[in-house]
Amino acid sequence: MDISVNIIPVPLKMTSAFIIRDEGTILVDSGYPGSEDTILEKLHEIGGSPEDIRLIVLTHGHADHAGSAAALREKTGAKVAVHRLDANKVRKGIQGKLHPTGFAGRILGLFFGRKKASMYQALEPDILINDSLELEEYGVRGKIIHTPGHSSGCVSVLLKSGDAVVGDLIFPSIPSEKPSLPFWADDPAEARRSIKKLIDSAPGKIYIAHGKPFSSAEVKEKFFEPFLKAQNRKNSDVE
Ligand SMILES: [Zn+2]
Ligand SMILES: [Zn+2]
Repeated sequence: MDISVNIIPVPLKMTSAFIIRDEGTILVDSGYPGSEDTILEKLHEIGGSPEDIRLIVLTHGHADHAGSAAALREKTGAKVAVHRLDANKVRKGIQGKLHPTGFAGRILGLFFGRKKASMYQALEPDILINDSLELEEYGVRGKIIHTPGHSSGCVSVLLKSGDAVVGDLIFPSIPSEKPSLPFWADDPAEARRSIKKLIDSAPGKIYIAHGKPFSSAEVKEKFFEPFLKAQNRKNSDVE
């Protein structure tokens, strides 16, 4: 049985959205305000039309992900789904404060955290996600899972193929581009737990919003193997 599901990245200003095509088509994230035409052009390029999009999944309520959701809902008629814990950001069109996890976040936050860069057209979500949401109803073999940490209402899309689209759960570090914690996190320890949960169920490719995709093995090696090695060393010291 063929379990492959097409993931088509749409490069946008400073970020990416993703068109997922299976029997049905969904969109993950919507970019900053004003990204709707670029996304619909990409859809057209791959032979789709606006009304093909059955669902717009917002991985979280930051402006670079939810910014064009209202305009895209208008143009496609798709429902917008967001996690219950990020719904208020979307209702107000305000992403809220960014909490840096390190140097890159402190510096880049001067730009991304500016008031102008953090506001967008507010909307009332159609679907509130709790722990998970099956996507079969929208023609996609996969589900949405809750992967909090970057913000409390972050979600990832996990496909039957083993690939995943994770929004801002993982960032590429500067300058090595290796997988790293997001530059901002409301709860870094929770983000780490979410990354573990994700790689335990997604053995394929991990698509992130702000960089090239990683393999699940790369993420695992970067986050958890140094710890395992240290643990093994400790155990052998005891023996
Ligand atoms: Zn974000
Ligand atoms: Zn982002």
